[in-house]
Amino acid sequence: MDTSGIAPLIWLAGYQLALNAIGWWLAVRLLPEERTAISRWAAFLACLSIGLLITGQRGLQEERVWWLYNGVNVVTLVGFWTLRRGVERFLHTGCSEREQLAWVLPPLLVLALVPPSIDWAPLRTAVAYGGQAAVMLVMARSITPALRREFGNGAAWSLVPPMLTIGLVLLALAIRQLTQWEQAQELHLDTGYNQGVVYLYLTGSAMFGFGFIQLVALRLTHQLRRNSERDSLTQLLNRRALSERLDTAWRRHRRRSVPLALLMIDLDHFKAVNDTQGHAAGDRLLQQAAELLELQVRGEDLLARMGGEEFLVVLPDTDLQAAIQLAERLRSNAQAQLGVTFSLGLTMAHENDVAPEDALRRADAALYRAKAQGRNRVEVS
Ligand code: GH3
Ligand code: MG
Ligand code: MG
Repeated sequence: MDTSGIAPLIWLAGYQLALNAIGWWLAVRLLPEERTAISRWAAFLACLSIGLLITGQRGLQEERVWWLYNGVNVVTLVGFWTLRRGVERFLHTGCSEREQLAWVLPPLLVLALVPPSIDWAPLRTAVAYGGQAAVMLVMARSITPALRREFGNGAAWSLVPPMLTIGLVLLALAIRQLTQWEQAQELHLDTGYNQGVVYLYLTGSAMFGFGFIQLVALRLTHQLRRNSERDSLTQLLNRRALSERLDTAWRRHRRRSVPLALLMIDLDHFKAVNDTQGHAAGDRLLQQAAELLELQVRGEDLLARMGGEEFLVVLPDTDLQAAIQLAERLRSNAQAQLGVTFSLGLTMAHENDVAPEDALRRADAALYRAKAQGRNRVEVS
């Protein structure tokens, strides 16, 4: 069988993948948060590249030496395994080390130990494709839930179908070799199928690469947005993020004429906690207060740390009666569970309020009255 026709294609694909691997390795320095996942992704590309570059050598050498026919497949399968570990690491998911080894060790042993001779070529080829297919298919199954949880269905769709397709094509190649045992289908032989396999490796790794970049970018923007919207001590909305969302809630309240309640909360004598128990204890108390509030408000309510030991709850679709009930419940639960008391100022959005700031000022005034009248109480304004 002629091998000269396909060799340049294999070389070119190997060269292209090597460039990709180098590019990703350089990117590791820019994205230290995802170092492990990205370096494993780069290692996969490097293994695939080395596998192809070695395969391209087969035509140049008469003798069937181990690394040309076995080593190639071992390196490639190790690359697939590394890919799976990298992706699962990235998504904080995956199965145990032992289960991973159970999938990859048997094919690796076969690929390493059978003689490089032509007689064993069908077995080597079938096991190589089968091993690669198994990694892709098992990985597609193991990462889908985590992918959907973190990035939503859209991202899962951009990664899982290509992975399944590649896995199924590799499986079909393995089955084809099993059913045509008398005819070895080693990759260096110049057949249309083998050309297709080279294109499959190139296309698959490119699609995977694009999907992966997309996920890294999504995760980073998500983290940046979250960091810019949240208070670092309590993880509640910060003042700026609250103000944006309050504007939205305000517009909705105006458009649909539904009630909107604002509740300003301040811890009583908090300075004394700092002074007697230390600043760290004060921080912990603020976190506990935030958690307690978080547990008691609804998903659609807005809860923010406005600064220091002051919190704001915005309650859409809530009338005065319900707001007072909630405020009283927050007050008594704080007293019972935190060993510290809350003063609360409550107000409803008025028809003649020009902007949310008018209501905020009223809530502040009510809070001030609660303080003046002895603390640990709810005042309405
Ligand atoms: P009042 O009942 O009148 O509200 O008295 P107070 O002591 O709670 O109020 P004051 O405003 O005098 O003190 C608030 C204190 O909160 C002062 C400040 O040092 C402390 N504080 C503000 N931010 C933080 C924080 O992030 N961590 C800690 N530990 N303390 C903080
Ligand atoms: Mg206070
Ligand atoms: Mg205060």
